[in-house]
Amino acid sequence: MASLTKKELQKKYQDYKAQGLALDMTRGKPGTEQLDLSLPMMDLVTSKDYKTLAGADTRNYGGLDGIPEMKEIFKDFLEVSSTDEVIAAGNSSLTLMHDTIARAMSHGFPESKKPWGQQDKIKFLCPSPGYDRHYSVCEHFGIEMITVPMTEKGPDMDVVEELVAEDKSIKGIWVVPKYSNPTGYTCSKKTVKRLAKMKTAAKDFRIMWDNAYTVHHLSSDQDQLENILEACKAEGTENRVLIYGSFSKISFAGAGVAGMGASVDNINWMKGHLSMATIGPDKINQLRHTRFFKDFKGVQKHMKKHAKIIAPKFDAVIEILEKELGGKGIATWTVPKGGYFISLDVPKGCAKEVVKLAAEAGVKLTAAGATFPYKNDPKDKNIRIAPTLPSMGEIKLAMRVLTVCVQLAAASKK
Ligand code: PMP
Repeated sequence: MASLTKKELQKKYQDYKAQGLALDMTRGKPGTEQLDLSLPMMDLVTSKDYKTLAGADTRNYGGLDGIPEMKEIFKDFLEVSSTDEVIAAGNSSLTLMHDTIARAMSHGFPESKKPWGQQDKIKFLCPSPGYDRHYSVCEHFGIEMITVPMTEKGPDMDVVEELVAEDKSIKGIWVVPKYSNPTGYTCSKKTVKRLAKMKTAAKDFRIMWDNAYTVHHLSSDQDQLENILEACKAEGTENRVLIYGSFSKISFAGAGVAGMGASVDNINWMKGHLSMATIGPDKINQLRHTRFFKDFKGVQKHMKKHAKIIAPKFDAVIEILEKELGGKGIATWTVPKGGYFISLDVPKGCAKEVVKLAAEAGVKLTAAGATFPYKNDPKDKNIRIAPTLPSMGEIKLAMRVLTVCVQLAAASKK
């Protein structure tokens, strides 16, 4: 589409503003139609039928690491080789990740000379753009964040290898390995191998492998991710990786089941700490999940239903980006094969202005900068688009407003 003059853009913008819109594209929440897919689960554990396959009473205490059938699903979901390498916990993987870091700070990992909190400085590598809540966890515990570029193949491994080899205060890295938040990128086979193999100055280095979108494909054209625990085992670094995932965007975002996969040493470390904090997770909810999904194949089948609902929303976003901004040399965006987000890069120094203009026209976007440590996007370029929650009509309208805002901000920079 031919470029509009600044005057024409301003007119369009004012017209949108006059409509008094109230659209929200901020967070990656499932839409109601997606939540409805799992409703039958609510009726699968009843007052007459609440025992596990082995006959355990889910109403009572116990089962620290989850009911066996939930662990079985997580074994395949997290791609570990046995249920000894799994914990099936409460509803949130973010809680599991937060608690892992909290325990490292207060007690350290088995290889730690001292708890992290008693060491001078602890640093984490943060491939960015990335997930804002990972950064919040680091900030919460006073962990210094080092931004590492995120590439189409995962974290920039040349940078990662050099940093971790020389600085023993770098204790970990956050990785969303598949359909990453917000880029949709998936780590290549080589990236996984390099992460498993790299020499780290810190003996207690950990990869926080947040595989939140492992089954969240948008179509049958899917990214493949190499098995990190296997790769680490092959290198003798199996205690390096901690794998997380959850059913938040499979069943109910507020009442799913979260899991952790890791070497038996790491699982035992985690269970030791977990036993100080709980006598067991919500087993009734785990039973609801296992009765509904039955096995991992059931999870994969269910995700096809999600894809049917959300793929058209992703398509609509991409289509409008292409139609309104394509060929104008002012923006680039990712076209993910899965996950929950699209990452939009606007001209340097424009992201904050775009988000502000959009907000003033009634379209709420994730705050500019949120996808970088300390909420500081050094180039002020990146905007995260979350298309799952709004209706199709709302998405189209919000995207038209957003693309006008991008062109206006770019025009003001010239
Ligand atoms: N990790 C990533 C990468 C996410 O995008 C999200 C949700 N936005 C989460 C974790 C949160 O997961 P949970 O609901 O299991 O805490």
